[in-house]
Amino acid sequence: MKDEKTYNVYFRITDKCNLECKHCCYDCGPKGDSMLSSNIKKVVDNIPAGVKDFELTGGEPFVVKPLLYEALSYIQSKKFPKISVIVQTNGFWIKDEDSNYKILKELCDLGVNYIDFTSNDEFHKEQGIDINKLHMNVNILPSPLGKALDRLNDEFPGLENRYSKIGLHLRGAGKRVQPLGRAKSLPIEMIHPFYPCLANINFYGQHKDVTIDPQGNVYLCCWQGPRSIGSVIETPLEQLVEDAENDPITKAIIDGGPQKLAKQIGMVSCISGINDCITCQKIFAELDRRPKAMEAVK
Ligand code: SF4
Ligand code: SF4
Repeated sequence: MKDEKTYNVYFRITDKCNLECKHCCYDCGPKGDSMLSSNIKKVVDNIPAGVKDFELTGGEPFVVKPLLYEALSYIQSKKFPKISVIVQTNGFWIKDEDSNYKILKELCDLGVNYIDFTSNDEFHKEQGIDINKLHMNVNILPSPLGKALDRLNDEFPGLENRYSKIGLHLRGAGKRVQPLGRAKSLPIEMIHPFYPCLANINFYGQHKDVTIDPQGNVYLCCWQGPRSIGSVIETPLEQLVEDAENDPITKAIIDGGPQKLAKQIGMVSCISGINDCITCQKIFAELDRRPKAMEAVK
């Protein structure tokens, strides 16, 4: 029997954000574009039944809340059998107990399993979001989010884990970042040294992590480094993945990271000792200049 593939989907529904963090790898801000509402359903219809983590993010998805809720509602209606739904946010909407409760309840009703707060770092603090004040003491009342979660928990008595109805993750960028988007202007000492290729790790074998941008383009990694493997508005994700696995350029990256590709096409001078994604950027910039080099990949 043919093995079924599973997928984690990182779905960036918008490039719009209330903040303009200087490390933002997607260059998000108040003027960013969002996915058209009419395309949300087309994307979700093209996601295979093997989806596991389905993460809705941006930009900041709560800046386009009606679109976020529309996407969540449609995903919920599809009843994917293995799904875990995650919403990634900077948490700017955390305010008082009543408004937090309302939002958490809405997210529960829309089938969200986790909220992933991404703003536990100095870059977000510079922009006015101090998530620690809003969230860290969630287990020690009073905190506005903790109180709202307790109320929500009261509504679902008998849960073994008091927050099992809706889980929370808290993380941040730390001090080192990827040299992408606005972070390209940051000093070299702030760039991740020795960052490994995620496509070589997370797109290898039967489980695939993919990223979808607000235009519906699909990428091998969350950094959207290599070229898109196609539009999931037009083509089922399974087909795009199968085509990518048979494409010599993406196959080289999946099998051995950008170093393997660089060696195959005679671009070893592009190999960076610092970070695989820098190697990747250099290769694709060079391929734009010398498209014939691709003929070397078999
Ligand atoms: S890093 Fe996150 S919060 Fe900051 S501008 Fe980018 S999307 Fe917005
Ligand atoms: S090396 Fe390229 S494919 Fe791999 S994670 Fe970085 S940008 Fe993505």
